[in-house]
Amino acid sequence: MMPTVDSATKRRRRLDGIGMTSRRTRERLIARLREKDAADETVLAVMAEVPRHLFVDEALASHAYDDTALPAGHDQTISQPFVVALMTQLLLNGRRRLGRVLEVGTGTGYQTAILAHCCDKVFSVERIGALLRPAQERLSELRLRNVRFANRDGFDGWPAHAPYDGILVTAAPPAVPPGLTAQLADGGRLVLPVGPADGVQRLCVHTRTGGRIGKEWRGDVAFVPLRKGITR
Ligand code: SAH
Repeated sequence: MMPTVDSATKRRRRLDGIGMTSRRTRERLIARLREKDAADETVLAVMAEVPRHLFVDEALASHAYDDTALPAGHDQTISQPFVVALMTQLLLNGRRRLGRVLEVGTGTGYQTAILAHCCDKVFSVERIGALLRPAQERLSELRLRNVRFANRDGFDGWPAHAPYDGILVTAAPPAVPPGLTAQLADGGRLVLPVGPADGVQRLCVHTRTGGRIGKEWRGDVAFVPLRKGITR
């Protein structure tokens, strides 16, 4: 009889990866991020835990731990690891953990998984319905259960669960949507790229303190545009 491999072993092997998707390859990426401007150890520890190769097409798996954005189908991309680390770090702002967080632009669910590790509850909205199911499946394979997904237009946030301690947007609107700032809790931070679809976008951080909103600008970035409306 052929020896059988039980499903728990198969799952572990898939998550662990081999060769270009192995933990060692992932650790090399983390070391590279640490040398750049994204060196928050809480964030890097989470990024070392989440297997990015599960979030890309099998044909691209050998590039999963390159520090580059990769195509994710439906004309979308999975963000560059450095940018994921930087945005998560700007959201946490030195804290180890956040309470309720809204993510706009689920995409593959990679950034969602990172947030699920460092937030009590994540609400993630995506305008393309067809991207949501695979993202949800990846998160349940990783046993991350503190996430709620919705096929919604993120320009309006998700008012039913507001206010949020953090809001992270992974697609670029031409200007900061006022609906999002309105859903920030006191002390909450909104991190998003802002700028034209075909030009330079800048990373922007809004912080609410009582009725005041403080604004900071960080480096240049390149994201897909935040689009209005949803497709199921
Ligand atoms: N964080 C993702 C990157 C996704 S790319 C990842 O790690 O894989 C940006 C995503 O934002 C795309 O999936 C796009 O469909 C989505 N998006 C664009 N406009 C949106 C909107 N108005 N509301 C919600 N999602 C939107």
